[in-house]
Amino acid sequence: MTDPTRTTSEPYDIAVIGGGINGVGIAADAAGRGLSVVLCERDDLASHTSSASSKLIHGGLRYLEHYEFRLVRESLAEREVLLAKAPHIIRPLRFILPHRPHLRPAWMIRLGLFLYDHLGKRKRLSPSRSLRFGEDSPLKPNIRRGFEYSDCQVDDARLVLLNAMAAREKGAHIHTRTQCTSARRIESIWHIELQRADGSCFSLQAKALVNATGPWVAQFLEENLQQSSPYGLRLVQGSHIIVPRMHDGEQAYILQNEDQRIVFALPYLDRYTLIGTTDRDYEGDPAKVAITEEETRYLLDVCNAHFRRQLAQSDILHSFAGVRALRDDEAQHPAVVTRDYSLSLKTEQGAPLLSIFGGKLTTYRRLAEAALAELKPYFPDMGAPWTAHECLPGGEDMTTPQELLAEVLAKVRGIDEALARRWVNLYGSRVWTMLGEARSREELGECIGQDLYTREVDYLCREEWATEMDDILWRRTKLGLSFTDKERERLEQYLRAF
Ligand SMILES: Cc1cc2nc3c(=O)[nH]c(=O)nc-3n(C[C@H](O)[C@H](O)[C@H](O)COP(=O)(O)OP(=O)(O)OC[C@H]3O[C@@H](n4cnc5c(N)ncnc54)[C@H](O)[C@@H]3O)c2cc1C
Repeated sequence: MTDPTRTTSEPYDIAVIGGGINGVGIAADAAGRGLSVVLCERDDLASHTSSASSKLIHGGLRYLEHYEFRLVRESLAEREVLLAKAPHIIRPLRFILPHRPHLRPAWMIRLGLFLYDHLGKRKRLSPSRSLRFGEDSPLKPNIRRGFEYSDCQVDDARLVLLNAMAAREKGAHIHTRTQCTSARRIESIWHIELQRADGSCFSLQAKALVNATGPWVAQFLEENLQQSSPYGLRLVQGSHIIVPRMHDGEQAYILQNEDQRIVFALPYLDRYTLIGTTDRDYEGDPAKVAITEEETRYLLDVCNAHFRRQLAQSDILHSFAGVRALRDDEAQHPAVVTRDYSLSLKTEQGAPLLSIFGGKLTTYRRLAEAALAELKPYFPDMGAPWTAHECLPGGEDMTTPQELLAEVLAKVRGIDEALARRWVNLYGSRVWTMLGEARSREELGECIGQDLYTREVDYLCREEWATEMDDILWRRTKLGLSFTDKERERLEQYLRAF
């Protein structure tokens, strides 16, 4: 069977395999330049590495120690670009770095922060400064001095979704729960075989193929395309735990550990602290990655070495793990393998294959621009770069999240601030599309649990490709942290009938 969403027999210009941040970023950019684009994702959008990150849009202060100046400069500048593109899902965050002189001397940190302040363009984010902690500090009394600097926090899974929506709005076709099982070049065209979760199959053609399968990048080349990988791949696991909020205030902490690594303690969703991450070599199926006992102990120990409040295993409400797909630079320790990205372009019979190695959420937009620059010779009429200045869905027609919050509260009767804030932080100005005609709590349909009404569920299924409970509870929203078993049952029932 051929692609049912395609009305012409013409091949697509570009087929993208993988619906993580890199795949959707490339699909959106390419579609906006006038190319015809199709993307397939085997599971849900953002269901792997792109929803298991530390959720930071950051320059990566730590990477300066490894002389990754190109990556840090690009990432620092991207903070402001992405903040302007999606102010509803990205927000500035101040980081506190407690000073521990036996780990890094103050002059070294000051130098790093000076570079951090000046390497990339900074308009909205405040500069760094030195700090002295008072009696009210949540840190242990022996930690008296520190530093403060700016980065940003992002809803990682929604960054992926918004890019997929942007791609669709520019004409791309997105197939979720659709695996690419094989692709062959025949007379300068890629013939691509796809299989849906229900077992049904279809095929399509494209002039160029983009392999954005993240941790599967080498496996996809070897098993599905019968090609050797141009680079070695190093899979590095990173895990996080979520505990009840550990401190007052909106600031994050960046904690230096004795092994020279750093761990973040990040304010998360009003009530929680997100603690991570770790670095350990990973072998096995990336889809099955899970936090280990050793990692849990490590994260608790780093926090307990810094904060007055001591954490125990029983404080952990949730944990998650992801796999970084890094280009192997033969570094000894997984923590120091480069986080920069590499693109590999191979052309045979005039049909290009572009494979993506590495990359950060922070640099996805620049990675997409680099990918399109590689493909330009095959599509000389493609449009110019455009993503730096156009908002992601929900970021448009929005002054500030605070003003939108006030507007929602004024226009929708009977809702409290927490619900309005949740909507604004997820949907931005698309909150009005989600609400449709509804202007009161009574018009939102049935409450399935935790202020999740059927109107929102319908919107997520209709507009955001949600089909299963976890799509809604963990990736479209983060309500999974508070949903009860009974509420889950009701949601599952509702989705079955949808
Ligand atoms: C612990 C951790 C913390 C991180 N923290 C940050 C951070 O704070 N800031 C930051 O900028 N970056 C961070 N990163 C890095 C960032 O998360 C990743 O670089 C990014 O998510 C990689 O995206 P991707 O699209 O390459 O891979 P993925 O998100 O894994 O997407 C690849 C997709 O391809 C799909 N796929 C595979 N094979 C097929 C097939 N045959 N057919 C169809 N689909 C297929 C998979 O299902 C998957 O969804 C972190 C990473 C980790 C692991």
